[in-house]
Amino acid sequence: MTIILDGKKLRDKLLDGLKLKIDKLDKKPSLAVILVGEDAASKIYVNNKKKMAEKIGINSQIINYPSDIKEDKLLEKIEELNADDSVNAILVQLPLPKHIDKFKIINAISPLKDVDGFTSENSGKLFSGQKPYAYPCTPKGILLLLDEYGINPEGKHVVVIGRSNIVGKPLAVMMLNRNATVTVCHSKTKNLAEITKTADILISAVGEKVIEDSSMMKVDSIMVDVGIFKDENGKTRGDVNFDEISKVTSYISPVPGGVGPMTIASLMINTFELFELQNKRSSGT
Ligand code: NAP
Repeated sequence: MTIILDGKKLRDKLLDGLKLKIDKLDKKPSLAVILVGEDAASKIYVNNKKKMAEKIGINSQIINYPSDIKEDKLLEKIEELNADDSVNAILVQLPLPKHIDKFKIINAISPLKDVDGFTSENSGKLFSGQKPYAYPCTPKGILLLLDEYGINPEGKHVVVIGRSNIVGKPLAVMMLNRNATVTVCHSKTKNLAEITKTADILISAVGEKVIEDSSMMKVDSIMVDVGIFKDENGKTRGDVNFDEISKVTSYISPVPGGVGPMTIASLMINTFELFELQNKRSSGT
C-alpha cells in the first residue's frame, strides 16, 4: 500500500516548533512581500503567506502596486527595504508585468534578505555547491518532506519534469548535491514515459495532466506532485492522476496537501533563518 507524503502534517509540525522559538524572542522576524498587479492567484498566495506568518509570530507586510508601476519605483522600494533593519526577508511575488525586468528586480534584493533564494548570488552559490543564504522554497520543501519519511535521494535516479528557475532547475541541483543521479525533462523531451519508467523518485512540476497512466511508473517508486491547476470541471488537481498512480507507488504526495504546504513552511523557515543570520552579523558573532 502506498504511503501518503503528508505535507500538511509536516508543515504543522515544523511551524509549531518555529512558533515556540519565535514566542521566546523580544524582537520578531519580519517579512515584506511585494505584489504588483491584480492577478487573483498571486493575491491568494500572498494573503496565505501573510496569514501563516502572523499565526507563528512573524511580522509581515504586503506592499501593493498597480500593474503599470514603473520599474524605478519598484527598485527604489527594494532599496528602502534592503536598508531597513526591521525587515529581514523580502519576497517579490512572481509573475511580474511584462514591462518589468524580473531579473533586475530580483537582483536588487540584498542576497541576505532574499527569502526565495532567487538572486544570482544565491542561485550561483547553490549551483556551485556552496550554501546559499536561502534555498528556493519549493525544492527545499520537497527535500524536507522526503527527509521526514526517511527517503534519501543518494544513489537514486531522480527524474524532474519541468525546468523553471523556481522549481525544476534548483531542485535538480539540490538533488545532485544530495548525490542523486538526476534527469531533467521538459516540453521538448522525447519519449517521456521511457524516462519516467526508470525513476526511483519522479517529481513533476508542470501544471498540466502529465502522469496519467501507471505504465509511466516504475513499480514501488516515489511520486512527488508539484503541479497545481484547475481541471475542466474547476477542481484543483496536480500533474498526476492520483487514484491511478497511487496503485503502483510506494510513496506519493497529494494535491492539495503535499508540496504546497511545504513551500509555505519553507518560506517561514527561511525568514527565521535570515533573521538569525542578520542578528549574528550585526552582533559580530
Ligand atoms: P513553469 O515555469 O510554467 O514551468 C513548467 C515546466 O514544465 C517547463 O519547464 C515546461 O517545459 C515543462 N512542461 C510543459 N509542458 C510539458 C509537458 N507536456 N511535458 C513535460 N514538460 C512540460 O511552471 P513552474 O512555475 O515551475 O510551476 C509548475 C507547476 O507547479 C505549476 O502548476 C505551478 O502552479 C506549480 N507550483 C506549485 C508550487 C507549490 O508550492 N505547490 C510551487 C511552485 C509551482 P519548457 O521549459 O520546455 O517550456
